[in-house]
Amino acid sequence: MAPLDTETKEHRKQYKLETEIVYTAPTDQYRSSSTPIYQTATFKQASGTEMGEYDYTRSGNPSRTDLENHLARIMRATRVLAVTSGMSAMDVISRLLKPGDEVIAGDDLYGGTNRLLTFLSANWGITVYHVDTTIAANVIDKLSENTALVLLESPTNPLIKICDIPYITKVVKEKYPNALVAVDNTMMSPIGMNPLDVGVDIVYESATKFLGGHHSLMAGVLAVKSAELGDKLYFVINSTGCGLAPFDCWLLHQGLKTLAIRFERAQENAQKVAEFLEDRGFKVRYPGLKSHPQYNLHWTMARAAGSVLSFETGSVEMSEQVVSGARLWGISVSFGCVNSLISMPCKMSHASIDPKVRAERALPEDLIRLCVGIEDVTDLIDDLKTALVSANALKE
Ligand SMILES: *Cc1c(COP(=O)(O)O)cnc(C)c1O
Repeated sequence: MAPLDTETKEHRKQYKLETEIVYTAPTDQYRSSSTPIYQTATFKQASGTEMGEYDYTRSGNPSRTDLENHLARIMRATRVLAVTSGMSAMDVISRLLKPGDEVIAGDDLYGGTNRLLTFLSANWGITVYHVDTTIAANVIDKLSENTALVLLESPTNPLIKICDIPYITKVVKEKYPNALVAVDNTMMSPIGMNPLDVGVDIVYESATKFLGGHHSLMAGVLAVKSAELGDKLYFVINSTGCGLAPFDCWLLHQGLKTLAIRFERAQENAQKVAEFLEDRGFKVRYPGLKSHPQYNLHWTMARAAGSVLSFETGSVEMSEQVVSGARLWGISVSFGCVNSLISMPCKMSHASIDPKVRAERALPEDLIRLCVGIEDVTDLIDDLKTALVSANALKE
């Protein structure tokens, strides 16, 4: 479908992704280049009986519409919905479930997703299966009439496991057309992968990461091809009030404009950092390395390797020293930001997962995650090298 030009309301040429990301037609009455922020909760009606396009910001706001339309073109979706965080996007999806439903999800999920699914199974009568999705049969074996949602992430974080999204989606849709397939595409962003193109029902992302790109806001986005499904998700958002606030819509739109160039540079840097570590004998997980066990599968689906990688030092103490020893790499959770970050998932982003469960899922306690930014890569490698040497993880 050709995208709708918001200015003329006519279908227009579909440009290349990099162009769509920066191109916007003016939508306001003054033809402002940067869409204004409609910082208002309410909209006045022309009369007691005439409803305007907007009435109350929980239900809709021009700043949100503008962002959502822009994202729909980028994500090749019929409809995109912007909400207050990535977890909020997942929460909206979870409200399509009812007691007795079954969810099949990965075993290396984002920590917050894991926490929400645990809550659903403890309180809402929903059965959640966590399987190693790298083996498609593990997912397929669990499918039944009760399967309401298959939730996939690829690559996972921090273990960088890849799953065959097109194949799993095809099998689910053939066997149980009513089961929804949702993909958390945060690690890839629209630059790296477009799961809607292979029949996935819902793609969602934490816009806190690559889409925003500066760690200045929290946001989540949901993208669908089915208008009916879009209406169901919108119903939840309007009912619960988790639509993204006007200022954050504007901020996200600003960040979004440089997505392509930020992503490319970060990925170029990540590849060099991954090669540096691998050349020095560390066990590195990154889809840009041929040594990744699912390198071929990844590149059948994706156009990019992303900028998140992880490696092991062999000792928890050593890893702790490496993380503390880095100067340029900020010690922080999250990724997709312009500046580079270093963390120990078991102590930070994945600390909410029970240590026993972490062990079962083979999450190494000494794992270091690197989220590479857009700095000069020689500075990044120098800084990492200094930290590795001073922690005795690497000889000079
Ligand atoms: C960060 C993240 C989320 C949650 O997003 P928030 O914006 O932090 O709520 C979900 N999935 C993945 C893969 C993430 O990295």
